[in-house]
Amino acid sequence: MIVEMRKNALPREIDDVIQKAGSLGFSFQQNVGTDKTVIAILGGNTGQISTDIFAILPGVVNVTRIMKPYKLASREFKHKDTIVKIGSAEIGGKKLAVMAGPCAVESRKQLEEATRIVKNAGACVLRGGAFKPRSSPFSFQGLEEAGLEMLAEVKKQFDIPIVTEVVDPHHVDMVARYADILQVGARNMQNFSLLSELGKLKHPVLLKRGLANTVTEWLTAADYVLAGGNHHVILCERGIRTFEDSTRFSMDISSVAVIKKSSHLPVIVDPSHAAGHYSLVPSLARAAIAAGADGLLIEVHPNPKEALVDGLQSLTPSDFRRLMGEIKSIAAALGRSV
Ligand code: PEP
Ligand code: MN
Repeated sequence: MIVEMRKNALPREIDDVIQKAGSLGFSFQQNVGTDKTVIAILGGNTGQISTDIFAILPGVVNVTRIMKPYKLASREFKHKDTIVKIGSAEIGGKKLAVMAGPCAVESRKQLEEATRIVKNAGACVLRGGAFKPRSSPFSFQGLEEAGLEMLAEVKKQFDIPIVTEVVDPHHVDMVARYADILQVGARNMQNFSLLSELGKLKHPVLLKRGLANTVTEWLTAADYVLAGGNHHVILCERGIRTFEDSTRFSMDISSVAVIKKSSHLPVIVDPSHAAGHYSLVPSLARAAIAAGADGLLIEVHPNPKEALVDGLQSLTPSDFRRLMGEIKSIAAALGRSV
């Protein structure tokens, strides 16, 4: 249930709403806007009480039920777009955020070369996996904490923020010591204990869409992080499983439009894992920007032929530079920049 307060409502009036929610056994979250406060009343059975209970309180101008399963990620709760800030980078504003780098951290040398390439081409965040959630237990699992250390070193050397995946709720504090943005991979989108741990942090969380999850399930998963008080959630479309097998996954471009309509959270697109092949990545990336995505997450390797993971879908340095140029013109047509 969403309780909208009048412009410049008194703190006492806001407190009364919160007190009432507490006395009925509900929790709440406040969205303090520039001119008015909106309070979400949360709990399993808010549907069983009348909206009048809140509508009658002084300072309340409107009470509505959110009929969707997700509440805090919804536009009803927060009308204005959320902009997630990481150092000088912003995700969700006019400027697009391109996060790029290798699928996995393989060595200090590989990471340093990749960072130089993506930063010079205009990426604002470096990606690189240290904990790799592989479909097979026999595949390379990542360098783990040694990989995080390398990420932290190049972050300092090149002055670029880093995004890296966390796969285990027990690793959240460790990964948070090194990373600027913590990534939740597609296979963990509904790992609710992981999401709840991330809700306790202040670090931005990049929440990838599950391989076979609806947009509603995805936004409801985002609510787990938001409910913990961490409001810095970035969504990432990375393709879903369909009957189509000419790409690794089917990039659901419509999810970008749906998210923009139903949620205030920024959404970026990962064309690399959707396409599965380097030759398809640029088209998907251009389509994502044209559809209104706030940025991209792209795999780039200094030498894809030697990549330990996902070489086939990784862009070469020159392909990445070309793509960055193409994106600039599409962004400009939409009044945005890269
Ligand atoms: C990744 O980005 O490194 C990754 C493993 O992607 P996904 O979780 O989307 O498969
Ligand atoms: Mn990968």
